Amino acid sequence: MLGAGTMGHGIAQVAALAGYRVVMRDVSREAIERGVRAIEANLEKGMKLGKLAEDERDMALQRVRGATSLDEAADADLFIEAVPELMELKREALGEVERVARRDFVFATNTSSLSITEIARAAKNPRRVVGMHFFNPVHIMRLLEVVVGRETSDETVETVRAVGRRMRKEPITVRDVPGFASSRLGVALGLEAMRMLEQGVAGAKDIDTAMELGYNHPMGPLRLTDLVGLDVRLAIAEYLHGALGSETFRPPDILRRMVADGKLGRKSGEGFYEWSD
Ligand code: NAD
Repeated sequence: MLGAGTMGHGIAQVAALAGYRVVMRDVSREAIERGVRAIEANLEKGMKLGKLAEDERDMALQRVRGATSLDEAADADLFIEAVPELMELKREALGEVERVARRDFVFATNTSSLSITEIARAAKNPRRVVGMHFFNPVHIMRLLEVVVGRETSDETVETVRAVGRRMRKEPITVRDVPGFASSRLGVALGLEAMRMLEQGVAGAKDIDTAMELGYNHPMGPLRLTDLVGLDVRLAIAEYLHGALGSETFRPPDILRRMVADGKLGRKSGEGFYEWSD
């Protein structure tokens, strides 16, 4: 596992619970310590909730080893990267794995928006590069988006789907297009809800309730936008609007205005809802 941050430690946890031996490598020693502590806390909570037996927890913890060097993972069959969302860093991570790995390996990227084909462009074996897009928090969210680059082989896709199932995720297979499947649909719904609010169709609570009770969504699109962050959503909408050339993704004025006013959702205390307490 490359990266021990929000996603890296979560993926390491579900991998260890699935029985895999994991080296969780980060360039920052503090990130590794934080990651290990977060895994311990999550497993402890799982035990208290009765989802996990004590020996399962102990065995999972034994299977995860923190490391600042990738050398300890030289014999790994699968490398998953969750380093920050920058093309350069993703390519560097792949290059480093290629230098260190002692056998054939699959390289999976947890990118939420970058092109798998682009990441694989400099790869020695682009057939073994694939997207494994997990969702936050990893130990709770069941979806795994397997993203197929132009050169990715069928065998690689099957391998990571099987690994994902063993991690108790539900894999879907998606072509490498901007927004993959999940962001494209989720963002489209969120932006349309904002346009409806702008046009006075209904209030935020009522629009959310329509989806929650009428379509069984666990959370309405405006509340979800508040949790994700309006600034994050705006950046994705701008990217998809440019990349897909579709008016569906043109950011509504209300979104731009709210971001400019510092109303970013839960993290700023106000978005489509008040989050003061
Ligand atoms: P994060 O900032 O929490 O963690 C990134 C970690 O990578 C940091 O600890 C950093 O020290 C480490 N790092 C940097 N260079 C490294 C290297 N060469 N080798 C090993 N570790 C290195 O970021 P995050 O939120 O976990 O996101 C990671 C990736 O996952 C991004 O591509 C992001 O788009 C994607 N993603 C994030 C979410 C989310 O909700 N946070 C959801 C799905 C996908």
